[in-house]
Amino acid sequence: MEKLRLLNDFPSDEVDECDRPGISEPAGCMRSAWRREAAESIKDPARQSIHRAILPGGGNIPLLKTMQTSICENNCRYCGYRSERDIRRVTFSPDEMVRTFLALQRAGVVKGLFLSSGVINGGTFTQDRILATAELLRKRYHFQGYLHLKLMPGSQRAQLEQAILLADRVSINLESPNAARLAQLAPQKKFELELLLPFQWMNEIQQTQDATHAWRGRWPSMTTQFVVGGVGESDLELLQTTFLLTRQYRLSRAYFSGFKPVTGTPLEGVPQLDPWREYRLYQASYLMKDYGYDLEELSFDQHHNLPSDHDPKVLWAEQHLANHPIEVNQADRRELLRIPGIGPKGVESLLRERARGSLLTEPGQLRKLGIQAERAMPYILINGRRPDRQPALF
Ligand code: SF4
Repeated sequence: MEKLRLLNDFPSDEVDECDRPGISEPAGCMRSAWRREAAESIKDPARQSIHRAILPGGGNIPLLKTMQTSICENNCRYCGYRSERDIRRVTFSPDEMVRTFLALQRAGVVKGLFLSSGVINGGTFTQDRILATAELLRKRYHFQGYLHLKLMPGSQRAQLEQAILLADRVSINLESPNAARLAQLAPQKKFELELLLPFQWMNEIQQTQDATHAWRGRWPSMTTQFVVGGVGESDLELLQTTFLLTRQYRLSRAYFSGFKPVTGTPLEGVPQLDPWREYRLYQASYLMKDYGYDLEELSFDQHHNLPSDHDPKVLWAEQHLANHPIEVNQADRRELLRIPGIGPKGVESLLRERARGSLLTEPGQLRKLGIQAERAMPYILINGRRPDRQPALF
């Protein structure tokens, strides 16, 4: 527990599946509230390592998110664990990590593990330590719960194949949207050879092998994370890479971690990212992943950033739907997804209702389907008429 506390003296930038990025606006983020709750329940110094994981199939669990070691031979210019920084370091042996996790699990504090690491003796050696922990957990202690393994830069294809046998999710942090930006942020990492390559491997493995050998008989989801705002990368650059990975390499999710300056690092003078920028990036990436938007359909300002004061979906609707409202009784799935206030679940409910032969005639019916009718009203027709914009109260 003391080691876990030391690991969290410096808060990690790792975002990943904790919380549900983009769902709450920045001011309403639940992350810290949930952590407080977790802290009270365990009343021990490891509290900062407990996060809430949204599972691929829905639902959520408390997750221990930690590192195998905080020793690192790399010198990423933003990172508090960089080798040139003078901090107290901690290392868990695989067995120690497993016993620590299982103690927390038995106490009912966590149900899943997300394991990352600083780099020691190269990516291959470090990856072996992570995999040794995962093997112990799955094979000796028969842990059946959620396990997310980080892939180290420089790890081998065989190690990815081993991770697939053990993990529910694997991830590799791209950090930057391209090689030029990465050279400014993490000069020792190689963008294509070390960070992009595992996505290609995963794609090839999924195309040529069958998933029955994978953990639970299905492919682990694959995610990545970017550090946003450290070295001047634009939203357009970040979303171009996200779009490519989503369409070509089956990326499940990109996580955008707003840059926070860390004392004693070369980027300590760079200001912290405005949380709205992070939030808009999530919104835009969801539009591309879950709503069928192409990158070209999003609006960017002269600096190639998303306008921070506008919801990107509303912006698109203002340009395309304000004068050409969509008839909700006739629109197809793709068109309905373009309407602000209607998400994938709302679309499914609406289509189910239509399939039952119901005719929608007034906004109250939309509300009953879980649709934010007030947001949708400027862009829709209901049974041939523009709905009156009345307060939702009535
Ligand atoms: S590899 Fe870079 S980002 Fe990761 S712990 Fe080391 S210095 Fe930090």
